[in-house]
Amino acid sequence: MERLLDAKLSIEDLNEESLRPRTLDEYIGQQKVKEKIRIFIEAAKKRKEPLDHVLLYGPPGLGKTTLANVIAHEMGVDIKVTSGPAIEKAGDLVAILTNIGENNILFIDEIHRLNRTIEEVLYPAMEDLKVDIVIGKGPSAKTIRLSIPPFTLIGATTRAGLLSSPLRNRFGIIERLDYYTIEELSQIIKRSASILKCDIDDRACIEIAKRSRGTPRVANRLLKRIRDFAMVKYDGIITYEVAVEGLEMFEVDELGLDIVDRNILEAIIYKFGGGPVGLSTIAAAIGEDEGTIEDIYEPYLIQEGFLVKTARGRVATQKAITHIAKSKFGGDKR
Ligand code: ADP
Repeated sequence: MERLLDAKLSIEDLNEESLRPRTLDEYIGQQKVKEKIRIFIEAAKKRKEPLDHVLLYGPPGLGKTTLANVIAHEMGVDIKVTSGPAIEKAGDLVAILTNIGENNILFIDEIHRLNRTIEEVLYPAMEDLKVDIVIGKGPSAKTIRLSIPPFTLIGATTRAGLLSSPLRNRFGIIERLDYYTIEELSQIIKRSASILKCDIDDRACIEIAKRSRGTPRVANRLLKRIRDFAMVKYDGIITYEVAVEGLEMFEVDELGLDIVDRNILEAIIYKFGGGPVGLSTIAAAIGEDEGTIEDIYEPYLIQEGFLVKTARGRVATQKAITHIAKSKFGGDKR
């Protein structure tokens, strides 16, 4: 099932280009990261050098790709966008690197998913602006070292720890993006609504922001769905009341939890006495994939204090118990 609150990119978001901020000023939130990046960019421009290699990490949907594009715009250079899984052979990466324009940016999303032999192409490229190409096969094969133009690699990953240390050590700038505050998300929603030419009041922006799990991608997606709802059921204007009614119809509760989040918490509370209970047991109880629970659902539940991970398994907190008990959606108490 397509999930409204999933922070990962989906088909629905493929037209999200139009909502992406282009400049650092338009990029809302992440103040500390922005301040530092602004200084690094100014210094690099003064020296007429490319920016040092940048590693951005943080949960999906927080603006890593957007920030990479903003950096390219602010530096006044071109950006080539690719991703770890899209680069299948070392030769593909060599081709990209030898074709890169001077001082341009190569952005590799999900950089932790590059396989090791491909990753090794990056080491001399990042350090010495060299790539090795092998010509011929077997005993007569020769390695030729080619120079490439100065460039900036921007890598994005969900957790910095997923990168091998030789790769991580070659980034001069490593920045973590954090979940956004309700105020920041509300500004993002307001900005997106004006781009989408949709009428929305301030209280509605805040209400959608509250349920967006700290994530701009989720905020934009909820806004688009509530816009549909307002258009079909009302006159298209998103007032606070319309937003609340729409969010209830989509079963996104007032703390941003959806049906699967609530199923997870309810299973722990009602079936396993509040925990501790193992991930695989929870997965079996609610019919979800273990990996999906761990990567997609749990991080937010933990971050918001609904769930804690202990050595013996997952435990529901008092906050979860109180929230589930008063949840008006009822959920799934199988
Ligand atoms: P990530 O690469 O971290 O998964 P993206 O950069 O693709 O996330 O961001 C998802 C969407 O959220 C973007 O299309 C953009 O519209 C919006 N967005 C992200 N960060 C910001 C921000 N700081 N200000 C405004 N909109 C943002």
